[in-house]
Amino acid sequence: MLIDTHCHVHFNAYKDDMDDVVRSCLSEGVQMVTIGTQKDTSANGIALSEKYDGVWATVGLHPSHIFAGYHDEGEVQFKPRNETFDPEYYGNLLKHPKVVAVGEMGLDYHYAYEGVSLEEMKAKEASAFEAGARLAIANDLPVVIHCRDAHEDQIALIEKIWGAYKEGESIRGVIHCFTGTKRDAERYVALGFMLAFGGTITYPPRKSDVAAGKELLTDVVKWAPLDRIVVETDAPYLTPVPHRGERNTPLNVKFVAQKIAELRDISLEETASATTANARKLFRKMNTEHVR
Ligand SMILES: [Zn+2]
Ligand SMILES: [Zn+2]
Repeated sequence: MLIDTHCHVHFNAYKDDMDDVVRSCLSEGVQMVTIGTQKDTSANGIALSEKYDGVWATVGLHPSHIFAGYHDEGEVQFKPRNETFDPEYYGNLLKHPKVVAVGEMGLDYHYAYEGVSLEEMKAKEASAFEAGARLAIANDLPVVIHCRDAHEDQIALIEKIWGAYKEGESIRGVIHCFTGTKRDAERYVALGFMLAFGGTITYPPRKSDVAAGKELLTDVVKWAPLDRIVVETDAPYLTPVPHRGERNTPLNVKFVAQKIAELRDISLEETASATTANARKLFRKMNTEHVR
């Protein structure tokens, strides 16, 4: 059994076969957390989670949806508004028994948005993240962090909001699709976060990085403490090898687990049982019985 801790199986990319995809995953022993990215996808994810045992949801505002220029057809049918984090809206949604976290949210410096300066982009992303994090803390929920090309600032923001992590404290959240350095990973672990690995760990590293003897993402996978890693697909995106290029589904999480097992020289069974236990430790609300 595996838990895909980060997918978007309620997105528009599955509009024709959503129930078939979910049912085939569940029948193969793959449970999932389907992740909200703005107001509509947060509400729709909950609606899907209500239909199935083994499907949970999160609610949150992805950094890209803060800006008007962003639109992804595989995500939502209608052009999204430039959204500011609305604590009242998300605060109501997260009371639902199947909502296990707040996010995805965080800092993404990879993209530029027309008419938005770098300073304005950074400030808006940080304030949306802080609002989401405060809401999660007030409701005793973990956060799902999306961070791209911004780990220094992300870590500083976590330190500012949560402070130091004390042994025995609940896990604070997860860094989804982790692609940072080992040093970043160490700092997140010390701050009480889990690291989620996805399809990117199955992609071949840049030849120049290998030739230069640079640290690779797979080195981080080998280093990470086994009690702090979870698996994900980010479906419909980031399809792992050997299905790269096709639409992703949570079923492919097994290729991610397989890669972790291979890199760490442990069995697939051990990888599956550790990452599943970690997911349940991270998303504490999974352990409360939900009566439909
Ligand atoms: Zn993301
Ligand atoms: Zn995502």
